Amino acid sequence: MSYRFMPAPDPALPILQEVFGYPAFRGPQAEIVAHVIGGGDALVLMPTGGGKSLCYQVPAIARQRAGQGVTIVVSPLIALMHDQVGALDEAGVSAAFLNSTQDFEAALAIERDLRAGKITLLYVAPERLTTARFLGLLDHLAEDGKLSLFAIDEAHCVSQWGHDFRENYLALSLLHERYPRVPRIALTATADDLTREDIIARLGLDAARVFISSFDRPNIRYQIVEKADARRQLLAFIRDEHEGDAGIVYCQSRKKVEDTAEWLTQQGVSALPYHAGLAADLRQHTQDRFLREDGIVMVATIAFGMGIDKPDVRFVAHLDLPKNIEGYYQETGRAGRDGLPSNAWMAYGLQDVVNQRRMIDESPAHEEFKRNQRAKLDSLLALAEAYDCRRVRLLAYFGEIYGQPDAGEALPTQGEPPRGAATAGSVGACCRNCDNCLTPPATWDATEAARKALSCIFRFHQHGGQRFGAGHLIDVLRGKQTDKVAQYGHTELSTWGIGADLSEQQWRGVLRQLIALGHLRAEGEYGTLELTESARSVLKGEVQMLLRQPSEAKRSRDARGGGRSKAAPIALDALATLRYNALKAWRASVAKEHNVPAYVVFHDAVLAEMASTEPKTLSDLRGISGVGEKKLEAYGMQILRALDEAGV
Ligand code: ADP
Ligand code: ZN
Repeated sequence: MSYRFMPAPDPALPILQEVFGYPAFRGPQAEIVAHVIGGGDALVLMPTGGGKSLCYQVPAIARQRAGQGVTIVVSPLIALMHDQVGALDEAGVSAAFLNSTQDFEAALAIERDLRAGKITLLYVAPERLTTARFLGLLDHLAEDGKLSLFAIDEAHCVSQWGHDFRENYLALSLLHERYPRVPRIALTATADDLTREDIIARLGLDAARVFISSFDRPNIRYQIVEKADARRQLLAFIRDEHEGDAGIVYCQSRKKVEDTAEWLTQQGVSALPYHAGLAADLRQHTQDRFLREDGIVMVATIAFGMGIDKPDVRFVAHLDLPKNIEGYYQETGRAGRDGLPSNAWMAYGLQDVVNQRRMIDESPAHEEFKRNQRAKLDSLLALAEAYDCRRVRLLAYFGEIYGQPDAGEALPTQGEPPRGAATAGSVGACCRNCDNCLTPPATWDATEAARKALSCIFRFHQHGGQRFGAGHLIDVLRGKQTDKVAQYGHTELSTWGIGADLSEQQWRGVLRQLIALGHLRAEGEYGTLELTESARSVLKGEVQMLLRQPSEAKRSRDARGGGRSKAAPIALDALATLRYNALKAWRASVAKEHNVPAYVVFHDAVLAEMASTEPKTLSDLRGISGVGEKKLEAYGMQILRALDEAGV
């Protein structure tokens, strides 16, 4: 997202500054807000963390102040409504929610407030919205001209193409039919064309202006490392870069989730397991702890994450390869919604490639579907094996050229523009915030090695028709005497020991790449290797293969040298860190008292800025981004006191 200043119309900017305490709109926000305040329909496509909420919250406040009544926010995420309303409450905005978790009395009280015009934003679940009772209520408001705006969050839920179709979103088309004069804003982080068309068609948004942001997440650093001992690598990554931070670790199986969480706990990391096999109330409890406590590491299957909008998740780690880039991007996108530096870290190895291929091969799906899944997996493997910019590849996958987003709005915020972005699009571009851009990996020419590996498999076949897995193949290539080698007489092969010059790790890289490129197939439980039709071209030397140099040794050195043991999201000196910790303790007590997550009171970044700039007066505090008028009034003196008592 770009943070560049945009001309904003009255009254939007004053609301942003007073109520939310932010100095300026981000990227296309100003334009969207102006359009919606003016009564236009909008479809907003913005990545997670882009700042979608303000796109309807600011218009809701502006229109309420202008006497136009209440904004109805449709959201499928019941679990989140409470925290969203809590956050608006903290900012002094009158908000409420209606969903199935409330008792009748509470719902009645809200209906009363609604009729009395006391509510600016009302969050409702779609199934509640379309009940006769609620529509009756809306009819009254509409007649009085007090129904200001509909905001439809997670709008992709209306699409069967999307990954989270919800039947009851379909009924939302009636909003337009029943209240044609009430403007609507639909928002989603799902980018693809098909879903977009579907949203427009199903919600009748043909006349809406479409706002598309860049899907880049400049504050997320992408890192993909080769697996050696994945758990230890993960632990080193957490210790080096994320001591005390909140994060999510994704694993493929429930068993691995439990084992990993237990192991991390033994190592002193506050880790909790989460998967669909746990009892619902335990899952809820675990999720609440993750949202409310500081520094919890959630070890989870992909069952976890949908609708978690905790802004200060500092890292997302993958111990297993996701199925495709869509999944990878969605999962990693849960890091750093607050815009502060965050990491997306993944360890992957040969076994991941073998496993994912096998899962596709063995699934009962149609051949065409499997072909599609294989192609998607291949794109992800290419990303993992890449030695050029990961961000360029990710965005290209979603049809965006890095540095040239559709809307022409968002440019990277990493300082200077990327090399070559202005002229040659993304070719050779460098984001300065992925592993490959920061420490370009050395490459080596593996063409010859690939031929050796394939011809060794060919010899196995000639020599007795047996197939073997990667381990044995590498032993033979490297000329290692093992029982199995003796048993099959493989010292006799012409390929015995022809690859002794390469390390086992290099050989694994070669095999991974051969499987990723489809020249080799790994089959069955043991991942026995078999040549495919296209292997012939490699054997003939027609395919050049360039691989990244294994970088494990270098990486751990880097990690030691560049490791930051940090408690705060921005660099703070020792005294400022003491002040920061004092502010965090104060925040924890307020959050507890108000029954909201700590970030609803203030984000980490706001506390860090207070700790480093040491405000002495209320007006000093007012200058800090994220401090609105209501919070200044409610907490200003307490903060100054906490800083004072920190005594530094
Ligand atoms: P999304 O719903 O698109 O994932 P959010 O609306 O939750 O994103 O916004 C992400 C974070 O960015 C929130 O913490 C929000 O307060 C912050 N944010 C949004 N717009 C601005 C802005 N103009 N200036 C500063 N922070 C902003
Ligand atoms: Zn890069």
